[in-house]
Amino acid sequence: GEPVIDASKCIGCVKCVKVCPAQAIEMAFTPEEKRILDELAAAAAGAPPEEELDPEEAALREKLAAYRGVWVFIEQTEGEAAKVSWELLGKGKELAAARNCPLSAVVMGDQVEHLCRQAMGYGAETVYLMDAPVLRHYRTEAYQKSLCALVEKYKPEVILMGATGLGRDLAGVVATVLATGLTADCTGLSIDKGNLMQTRPAFGGNIMATIVCDKFRPQMSTVRPHVMPMPEFDASLKGEIVREPVPVAEDEVQVKVLDILMDKGGSKVDIAGAEFIISGGRGMMAKENFGLLEELAEVLGGVVGASRSAVDAGWMPQDRQVGQTGKTVRPKVYIACGISGAIQHLVGMQDSDVVIAINRDPEAPIFEVASYGIVGDLFQVIPSLTAKLKALKG
Ligand code: FAD
Repeated sequence: GEPVIDASKCIGCVKCVKVCPAQAIEMAFTPEEKRILDELAAAAAGAPPEEELDPEEAALREKLAAYRGVWVFIEQTEGEAAKVSWELLGKGKELAAARNCPLSAVVMGDQVEHLCRQAMGYGAETVYLMDAPVLRHYRTEAYQKSLCALVEKYKPEVILMGATGLGRDLAGVVATVLATGLTADCTGLSIDKGNLMQTRPAFGGNIMATIVCDKFRPQMSTVRPHVMPMPEFDASLKGEIVREPVPVAEDEVQVKVLDILMDKGGSKVDIAGAEFIISGGRGMMAKENFGLLEELAEVLGGVVGASRSAVDAGWMPQDRQVGQTGKTVRPKVYIACGISGAIQHLVGMQDSDVVIAINRDPEAPIFEVASYGIVGDLFQVIPSLTAKLKALKG
């Protein structure tokens, strides 16, 4: 149902504003309330420090204070960076500003120095570079030892990685070896009282949980591609490359890459990278009807996506699924056809620039995130939309 704010319990801490995943909450204060809040804040700032910290607390603070700086791991394959790494540098910059600390990138591979320049253009002030043939292909052991050695030497407070196959693997093993916390698939990251607030869906996406790692460092998070916006590249930005020796020799690595076979199967369409996505749900009624969406996609130069119901029904392949257990997308335009708008679907597409929903049920929750809503029968609306667009194109 509708969220309700109980005014008698609200203390104006604005925490809800910060954590609302849809950025839907605003808080306004009357001048009188503002005066009281300012007075309270001033009193808190000027208050004498609490009596002596107990020794345990003091030791903890000292341990945490040894860690400083925000790091982003730059994932690469054959010398090409995964875009999510640049998205994370954009977010990393905000976090570093909030902590008043430097933003750094970590580049690992074989002959990958060109990625350092790119990382600087996306905001990294320092780039730690480990460049050696042993790091040519991703192998858990070699990358884990290398990254752990870097962390132990330079002690960053935050490490961000893409929630890709590689990132999930590396983040997990590194967090385990360093005995620190890791939050996977974060959808929101911010700083509060010096700690990283890591927000992610929990309990099947029914609630948003904010996870804090306040006793260990570094604080590690993975974020899926397209969740954070892509920052602007600025070629004039400068930074420093710190070359580090690779602490692993080839004969210490158990896994050998003998051959790389590219997957020739699958539908070869990357919905996560598309600018226009036309998704169909259970309302499409049958596999054949997805032809309507293909036609519309063709006119728009887009691709066809699907809700989980449509995938489960076998109407679309799994790699087209949008949502919590599918892909997170951020296209310019997302058209949802016959999709009700379950929370698990919304978390995968709600950050699209424009959402257009076509549904015959005016109460469907998809309309709550839609920029434009069309209440009607999709079997009438979609063909006429396609015809109109075709006519416009001439
Ligand atoms: P429905 O909810 O059945 O909606 C069909 C809609 O079509 C209705 O709103 C109806 O009004 C409309 N409709 C019917 N006929 C017409 C017509 N002729 N014209 C116009 N409109 C019409 N779901 C995902 O999508 N992605 C995920 O990644 C995902 N992960 C999940 C993970 C977990 C742990 C769980 C528990 C669930 C997950 N789900 C996911 C499932 C999700 O909860 C919903 O069940 C699913 O999204 C519903 O799909 P739908 O909107 O296509 O179908």
